[in-house]
This record gives sequence, structure tokens and C-alpha cells, in this order.
Amino acid sequence: MTPDSSVKTLRGVGETRAKALENMGIRTLRDLLYHFPRAYENRGHIRRLTEGTDGVKSAFLLTVGTVPKTVRLRGRMTLTKFKAFDDSGSVDVVFYNQEYVRQIFEVGETYRFWGKLTYSKSWSLSSPAYEPAPEGKVLPDFISVYSIGNGVNRKLIESLIASALACPIPDFLPEEIRLRYHFPTLSRALKSVHAPASREELDAALRRLIFDELFCYSLAVSSNRQRELVKTTAPCSPVDLSSFYALLPYELTGAQKRVISEIVADMTATDKTPMHRILIGDVGSGKTVCAMAAIYLAVKNGYQAALMAPTEILANQHYHDFLPFFERLGFSCACLTGSTSQREKKEIYARLSAPESDLQIVVGTHALLGDKVRFSKLGLVITDEQHRFGIRQRTTLGEKMAHGHSLVMSATPIPRTLALAFYGDLDVSRLDELPQGRQKIETYVVNESYRDRLNGFIARQVADGGQVYIVCPAIEDAPEDGPADEIPLDRMIWNGGSDTPVKNAVDYAEHLQNHVFPTLRVGVLHGKLKAAEKNKIMTAFLNREIDILVSTTVIEVGVNVPNATLMVIENAERFGLSQLHQLRGRVGRGTRQSYCILVSDFSGEAAKERLGIMHETTDGFRIAERDLAMRGPGDFFSGACNSEMRQSGGIQLRLAKCCDDPALMEAAFREANEIVRQDPALSFPEHAAIEDELTYYFHTTDNEVS
Ligand code: ADP
Ligand code: MG
Repeated sequence: MTPDSSVKTLRGVGETRAKALENMGIRTLRDLLYHFPRAYENRGHIRRLTEGTDGVKSAFLLTVGTVPKTVRLRGRMTLTKFKAFDDSGSVDVVFYNQEYVRQIFEVGETYRFWGKLTYSKSWSLSSPAYEPAPEGKVLPDFISVYSIGNGVNRKLIESLIASALACPIPDFLPEEIRLRYHFPTLSRALKSVHAPASREELDAALRRLIFDELFCYSLAVSSNRQRELVKTTAPCSPVDLSSFYALLPYELTGAQKRVISEIVADMTATDKTPMHRILIGDVGSGKTVCAMAAIYLAVKNGYQAALMAPTEILANQHYHDFLPFFERLGFSCACLTGSTSQREKKEIYARLSAPESDLQIVVGTHALLGDKVRFSKLGLVITDEQHRFGIRQRTTLGEKMAHGHSLVMSATPIPRTLALAFYGDLDVSRLDELPQGRQKIETYVVNESYRDRLNGFIARQVADGGQVYIVCPAIEDAPEDGPADEIPLDRMIWNGGSDTPVKNAVDYAEHLQNHVFPTLRVGVLHGKLKAAEKNKIMTAFLNREIDILVSTTVIEVGVNVPNATLMVIENAERFGLSQLHQLRGRVGRGTRQSYCILVSDFSGEAAKERLGIMHETTDGFRIAERDLAMRGPGDFFSGACNSEMRQSGGIQLRLAKCCDDPALMEAAFREANEIVRQDPALSFPEHAAIEDELTYYFHTTDNEVS
């Protein structure tokens, strides 16, 4: 048996169970090994009976006090019951339909029980888990809890994982690297994560497994995008940009000038390598004009240029900017999206592919990727808001031009140290300066005691003709965290989260409408709504038919409501700074002074300091650097850049999104880069195992942008 053997090689797994496991995404032993616990029962935290809370699962160390007795209930139901005690009191331990427990529990024996203490007339512990705990016996503190599935219960998944752990698990990580960081072997780490003997052992295992994810991710990105040492098919000569500049209604910022010169240098490189550049800049930093300069250069050199945007709205917006501008330069420009009429599409296809094409610029959505779209002389591809596309889509448009130039643009500032991991070998340009005259969004951090004043402020904004966003972390009321003694896996890694109650969009909107702002129009928007419904609500907000829009983070992407002047973010401590920054960027788009209020009742000093940064600065790059330093890299993997990571070929980062240790991340990236430097194709025999591991990491499906 190897980790890649089918689950069917395990005793007790036939067709039916294999199918049930497959429904959970588990096909091989390796899938089982990487089916990490969703949480751990903290059974090491023994509570006295008097400390137990009604309805909450906890661990108790109890001695059996009476002989178990079985009584018959309705029908065939039985109830077996005995008393057990600790030094604080006693409790009825009850089991339903488990008469056999009579043979297990003997008076005077001590057990560690794990279950819910409930009260009705007297305290009882119903069907608890139990482990014999004679004097001197050491029991593990943490017991794994797995997500289960149809036809796969806890017992089954536990026993299958135990069997999988028994098979030999080779370590893909070079020994030298493993020893450098004192990591356990892969086999040891997997055993520990499923059945940790101690907290220390679990921590060591998690570090190793987080390292693995980041290491593989980094390798995959860089080996995927190894700079091809090819000559470009679209070599450009420098051109005089003055007639381009003369048409701009404003003076370029220093950052824009620098970025344009970087782009020009790439496209006119004397070694004739193609441009592979990413341009990162906050919303409003003026990325479009840099893209236009690239287009100007390409077209002047006789090439076609294509710009792809993630949504129709954005594509249309670009088209309406481009058309009048480029027409004055004598360039023609077309727009191709899903809603372009068949007739127009046909015409665009024909014009783009004509040998002496008169159509130099095309702007569009992923409609540009269609088979029928052929270019006669495509030399430049620009992808806007690239983090919203999958890598596959980006490359497909690139493939239409062999080795032309490519520029991608992103509004997600990420720290320098992460750029390599996110963008592989793309050259990075940063627009770190906003055009003059932008208003600064005033930002404040407040706690619950400001609630009345905040509501007054909201009402005033609306009375003054503005509109308000309120962002909540959750959609509906759901018990998202387990009971206190059951610790979710991610909390094991990163424990800086808050335990304050979480506002959910649906209930809070209802509350505001019915009890706080009965005369105002409150709307609610969240990810569970159908696309058409979301669109309708956004349009209503844009048309000022809604005053207050209560929402989850779905509003993060691609909406522009210039009349919105206030952004309130509830449970702000739950968000990464970069995400808060993105949300804040939704206001301040018009001429009115805009505000961002971060509401947080979380008392932790670190959280306070973190949120304080939002008050201090509006520079997305600074915010990202501070976020990385204070909270670790995890947020960048789960928050703002989540889609980027996920879509980079579908890698699964289960643990890295909670990583709170920048040093661990840097180590993983450094080691990966070193390997790529020595062996770009991973063809050395000692790297064969890494290659296999990457295949595993990448076996999941790409997410398509729809
Ligand atoms: P983004 O980086 O978010 O794509 P845009 O390129 O759309 O930003 O620019 C935002 C707005 O700023 C546009 O209306 C654009 O005309 C304007 N703009 C861009 N550069 C400058 C500048 N140097 N001075 C003044 N306005 C500018
Ligand atoms: Mg833009």
C-alpha cells in the first residue's frame, strides 16, 4: 500500500463506502491522511461538575458511584443509568439503547467523560464519550473531531484514518530542509495532527504541514510560470509618447510616470524578451492610464492590443474611456462581452482576424477567450483585476499571441515578501501614490458604547443625502464556532480571533429596519442570494432607492456608488486589515467627505493596535505590510487574495490561511526558490517526490469566473 492506493484497499471499504467517501472528496489513502480534523475536543481541560455549563460539551473526571441499571422505555427503547461523582458533586450518566455499558462501568472506577451536561430536575450527562482513567494513566488532551458525510460516520472515518496512518508514508521534503527547521517527518506530522499526544506535538506537526503548503504553493507558482527564455513575437521600438500625454486631461503622478517607463522598458527590451508584468495599485490610483500607454506603444508598433476585465460593467467602463481617447489618435476600438449581439460579434471576429486588420484595440470580458476570437497581430494582452480570473483563463488569452507582451493589473496590495509567492516570476510595478486632490476617508474605531451616537451619525448621513454601507461578518445566525471546549483547527493555529458575538447581515438588517430606522429604507445583500437578486439590490442602492445597505463582504468587488459616504464595519476585529482597506475603498468615490467606522468590542491590545492602523493610514501597501507583521501571512491566503490563491491552479491551502508566522512563510518561500534556482524543471532524482506532491496539491479543480 502507498498513499496513492485507493481507499478500497482498506479492510471494510467496498463499493458503497468508497462511493460515500468519494462524495467527501476522499479517493486515496492520501486523501484520508489529509482529511484533517475540523476541530479538537479539549479533553485535557477537565471541568468539575459545578463548573459545567448547561448544553456545552466538556470533559469531566468522574468515579462511578452506583451500579448501572437499565429501564425499558416506550417500544424497544432502553435507558441505562448510573450515578458518577467528582469532589464537587454528582450527576446521572445516561445511555440510550446501549445496555452493554452495564458490563463496562464498575462502581469505584474512574473515567474521563466527554459530553453535554444538561439540567432538567437534576443534572445529567447523556451518552457521553468515555475513556478509563485509572490513577496514573496519561490520556491525550486533544481528541480529533472530523467532518463526516453521508454513510461515513465518526467511527468509520476515525478507523480509516488510523489504517491509512499505518501504511508507510514517504517524505517528499528533502532531509536537509527538514532538519534545518527541526520539522518532524511527514509521517510523524500526519500522525500527530490526527492523534496528538500533546499540544507541543500538535504545534510542531502544524508548523511542518503549513510549511509544506507554502513550500508547494511557491514551487508550483514558480515552476508554472518559469520565465521562458524566448524572444517576443512583438518586439517594439521606442516611440515618442508626447502626443499620448498631450491628450490626457491631467498631469501624471510620479508613480504613474515610473510605471509607464517600466512598461516601455519591458516592451522595447533590447534582448527582446516579452513583458510579464503585474501592476498593483489601490483603487483609484490610476492604473488604467498606464495600461493605455502600453496599448499606445503596441499599436504604434503595428500590433493589436486586448484588455480583459472580469465583469461586463468594468469592460464597458473601459470601453467608454478608451473609445473617445484612442479615436482622437486614429486607433479603432471595439468591445466584446457576453451581451454583444451576434451580428456585432461576427463583425468583430472578422475584423480582428483580417490579415490587414483595421481593428487595433479590443476590450472585453472572458468572451475574448472564445474559440472564434482570432487575432491577426496580437502583441499585448492586459488583464484587469487579475485576481478575479483563474490562471487558466489568463494563460488562454496569452496563448492567442504566442510570446507577446502581458500586463496584469490588481487592486490588491500585497506585501513585497509575498509578491514572489503570489505572482511567481512576474515583474512587479507598484502605484503607491494617489492622484492629487483625492479626499481622505476619515476612519474611526469605536466600541459598543458608541452605538447610539453611531446610529445618530448614520441617520444624519442619510438626512444629508448620503448613503450607508454596513458590513457584517456573517450572513445568518449560525452557531459558527463550536462550544468553548471544542477548538476548531484554525484556532489551534491562530488564536488571536475574538469571541464577541457576531452580527449577521440578515438579522441585523431586520433589527435596524424595525427598531432603529423605521422611516429609512434598509436593504440586505449577501452571497447566498441569486446573482439576479444581488444585481437588483445593488442597482436599487445605486439608484438611491435604498438608504442603508447591510451586507456581507460581497460588496467588496466591483461596485461603485459615488453617493455612498459612510462605511460601517461590524465586528471589525474579525477582518484582515487588507480586507478592511478594500471595504473602505467602497466609499469616498464622490465629492462628499466620507467616513469609515470600525465597530469592535474586542478588548485585545493587539486587535486594537491593528485596527488603529486603519485610522492612521489609507496607504494599502503600508496596511498590507503591517497586517503581515502583526497577524502573519494567513489573511493574505484567506482574505483579499483568496481567489488568487485558490485559482492558481486549484491548490488547496487548508492550514496556511491560518499561518501567523511570517518567518515560517519566508522560510518556505526561500527554500522553494532555492530549489527552483538549482533545478527549475524539478528533474533531479531527489526532487521527484516533490513533483509528485505538487501533482497532488494541484489535483483539485480550477474555479471558473462566471
Ligand atoms: P484604478 O487604478 O482604480 O483602475 P483608474 O485608472 O480608473 O484607477 O483611475 C481613477 C480615476 O482617476 C479616473 O477617473 C482617472 O481619470 C483619474 N486619474 C488617473 N490618473 C490621474 C492623475 N494623474 N491625476 C488626476 N486624475 C487621475
Ligand atoms: Mg481599474
